[in-house]
Amino acid sequence: KPFLTLSGVHRHYGEGQTEVRVLDAADLVVQSGELVALVAPSGAGKSTLLHLCGLLESPQSGEVEIVGEPTSKLSDRGRTQLRRTTVGYVYQFHHLLPEFSALENVAMPQLIAGKTPAEGHARAEELLALLDVGHRAHHRPAELSGGEQQRVAIARAAANHPKVILADEPTGNLDPGTSDLVFEALQNLIRAEGAAALIATHNHDLARRADRIVTIRDGKVIPHMV
Ligand code: ADP
Ligand code: ADP
Repeated sequence: KPFLTLSGVHRHYGEGQTEVRVLDAADLVVQSGELVALVAPSGAGKSTLLHLCGLLESPQSGEVEIVGEPTSKLSDRGRTQLRRTTVGYVYQFHHLLPEFSALENVAMPQLIAGKTPAEGHARAEELLALLDVGHRAHHRPAELSGGEQQRVAIARAAANHPKVILADEPTGNLDPGTSDLVFEALQNLIRAEGAAALIATHNHDLARRADRIVTIRDGKVIPHMV
C-alpha cells in the first residue's frame, strides 16, 4: 500500500482571466521508504503540491490518500488530526524553539501528542543519534551549526512516526558540503523509519541521489531528469 497517493488532483487559484491552474489532473504515488525529489522552477507549484500532500490545502477535485486513507471527505478537524499523526514537515529555516535544548525540541511534539516525558526523551535520543547529532542533545539551537540545526529539525519532524515527510528546500540555507550531510541524514531516516518523502530542492546534485525525481509541467507531476 503506497503511503502517499494523489489522483486526479486539481488546484486552481483565481477565476476567469486571472485563473492560475497550478495542478490539473495531477497524479503521484510515493511508496513507503521512497524518497522523491521535486525539482521545478519558481512558480511551478511546488509549495502548492507540498501543502496538498500535507493536508494544509484541499484540492478543488481529486483525492489525496495518506496510507490508503482518502482525505477529501474528512472534516477540518479530521484533517488536522490526520496531519498531526501522519505528516512531518521540514522547512528551509529550522524553526526550532530557541530556549529549549535539541532534545527538548524533538521531545515536544510527542509530549503534545500525549507521550510521557520518559518516552519522549527516549525517542528524541534515538532520532538524534540516527541523524548523527546525539552529541548535541543538550545544546540550544543557537549553539549549533546550520547543518546540525537542520538535522535536529528533521528529527523533530520525525518525532511522532510520520508516514509522510515533506521538506521544502531543507538544504536551501546551507553550503554544499553541509547540504550533502543533511540530505544523507534525511535519507537514512527515511530508510530506517520507512516513511514516504517528498523533497522540493533546487540542488540538482542532491536530487540525483533521490530514488526518483519529478517535476510539475502543465499541471501534471511527471518524471524528470536533471
Ligand atoms: P512554487 O512553490 O513552485 O514557487 P507555488 O505553489 O507557490 O509555486 O505557486 C504556484 C502558482 O500558484 C504561482 O503562479 C502562484 O502565484 C500561484 N498561487 C499560489 N498560491 C496562491 C494563492 N493563494 N492565490 C493566488 N495564486 C496563488
Ligand atoms: P498547526 O500544527 O498549527 O496546524 P502546521 O505545523 O501544520 O500548523 O503548519 C504551520 C505553518 O507551516 C503553516 O501555516 C504553513 O504555512 C507552513 N507549512 C506547513 N506545512 C508546510 C509544507 N508542507 N510546506 C510548506 N509550508 C508548510
